[in-house]
Amino acid sequence: MNYRNPDLHCHSTISDGLLAPAAVVARAAANGVDLLALTDHDELDGLAEARAAAADVGIGFVNGVEISVSWGEQTLHIVGLAVDPDNPALSAGLAHVREGRDTRAVRMGDALAAIGIRGAYEGALKYVGNPALVSRSHFARYLVEVGAARDVKQVFDHYLVRGKPGYVEHEWASLDDALGWIHAAGGIAVVAHPGRYRLSRASLDEMFQRFKDLGGEAIEVVSGSHGREAALEFARVARRYGFLASRASDFHGPGESAVDLGKADVLPEDLTPVWTLL
Ligand code: AMP
Ligand code: MN
Ligand code: MN
Ligand code: MN
Repeated sequence: MNYRNPDLHCHSTISDGLLAPAAVVARAAANGVDLLALTDHDELDGLAEARAAAADVGIGFVNGVEISVSWGEQTLHIVGLAVDPDNPALSAGLAHVREGRDTRAVRMGDALAAIGIRGAYEGALKYVGNPALVSRSHFARYLVEVGAARDVKQVFDHYLVRGKPGYVEHEWASLDDALGWIHAAGGIAVVAHPGRYRLSRASLDEMFQRFKDLGGEAIEVVSGSHGREAALEFARVARRYGFLASRASDFHGPGESAVDLGKADVLPEDLTPVWTLL
């Protein structure tokens, strides 16, 4: 199908977004989005509410999820679009990925306590909408609250990325498993915000080749989580590998996300949009 303003990646309070699923849909519709995918981290629980809200306001809706994946030392995010939320392989896989989050969060709290920031685990929980989904974003909001840094971005840079005191290593799903679950659930696999990964060109190529060999269909060429330079670079990657192209805000909430729902740049015209499959 042809859409004027699709947005195929965003978050609600079911993971680390600031708005409830229905409020995300209402904002998307107000911004002129005509096809929206809600893609909470490792969770499908917001989809029913969002789908009903989308039907009410008359915009298209796609069931989505953003799966956390470990690729060597790197964490990758793989979006699944048009997944069947009732598929047992997908739900069991995601349940397994979510399981480690709470222990990791406790360890993050301990790591921050060791540098004098006490009560961060409990503090982060105040911002959590779904107890199964404690994320670094929730810690970031608490650390801003206590004045550890000026904004969420600064908190990440100073505390929550590898090499910084609040960072805790974690093993997520494998790339093979993530694509297996997405495809078992009838979905389309998309590499999220490829411009965000700290990988050499050779490692990126290795990842894209593996993703293609596993039947991966698309990459986010335009993402609110990477810049225009990256969009040009990954447009070339899409052409070279024959990937479909996605467009996404990766919106988390007003005041926190640089790109609002439906406001990401348009795709380069020669690319085939992933929504031709939707
Ligand atoms: P987690 O899945 O708990 O590791 O949290 C990852 C989430 O943290 C991402 O989905 C983003 O929402 C957020 N995040 C990661 N890095 C940054 C950053 N540098 N600035 C702002 N938010 C970030
Ligand atoms: Mn997030
Ligand atoms: Mn992501
Ligand atoms: Mn995201």
